[in-house]
Amino acid sequence: MQVSYSAESVLEPTLSRNDLRVLLVYPNTHDVAMANLGFQQVYSLLNKIEGVACDRFAMPLEWKPETQSLEREELRSMDMQMHPLEFDVIAFSISFEPDYLNTVLALKYFGIPLDREERDASFPMIAAGGSAVFINPEPLAECMDVLFVGEGEGMAERFFGLLRENEDRDQFFERAFSIPGIYLPQHYRPQIEKNLQVGISPLEGAPARVVRHWVVEEESLCTHSVLHDEDSTFKDMALMEVTRGCIWACRFCTAGFI
Ligand code: SF4
Repeated sequence: MQVSYSAESVLEPTLSRNDLRVLLVYPNTHDVAMANLGFQQVYSLLNKIEGVACDRFAMPLEWKPETQSLEREELRSMDMQMHPLEFDVIAFSISFEPDYLNTVLALKYFGIPLDREERDASFPMIAAGGSAVFINPEPLAECMDVLFVGEGEGMAERFFGLLRENEDRDQFFERAFSIPGIYLPQHYRPQIEKNLQVGISPLEGAPARVVRHWVVEEESLCTHSVLHDEDSTFKDMALMEVTRGCIWACRFCTAGFI
């Protein structure tokens, strides 16, 4: 079968003065990040939103989780060579739960307090999405400002569009509740019984339930590689998503349920 492949979206962000600067982080090594189609899709999606300039970051190739710190040069974003603290938003793309631990390490390397309560608006807004997050966002609820529950297409455009219109972060959060899939964990309290979390209660104004965002017309997605990188695990391949999730729904596997 011959596949026609569009290079239309091989993107390099360009930064204008008023652009919202978003750093998309894959919390694992560069070769794994560049081989992840979800990461590429979100990078492409964000750079297509008017007024948003999205750059990327992943750990160096030789990185190991026991690494204590990264050199300043190793902390530069891939396209614009900026330090993570220079961005307005740092968004983690997390496909696999073990990367939750790497997310914590990345925040440490960036010099950003892990505990949300210790951060003020001088720090970038910290967000996370991806299939691991929408299976279970709670392990990250105490350190994230925003969790994306569901698929990015349709949700990211509304979220970043609203963020551009609202410079005051608290005011923005009050309005962001209305976007399906946006979970703002600071507006909820965990219900703990016998050291186990048995639920969460919304604080005043927050919806009782965060509605997951679905893409209704899956055929419209057309997800494929937009980046080619010599260090990618799949460097000689163009990736293409033929379906999202899986129709077979084996009980032990999340692909059939997300
Ligand atoms: S194991 Fe998962 S991906 Fe494989 S057929 Fe079953 S549901 Fe689909």
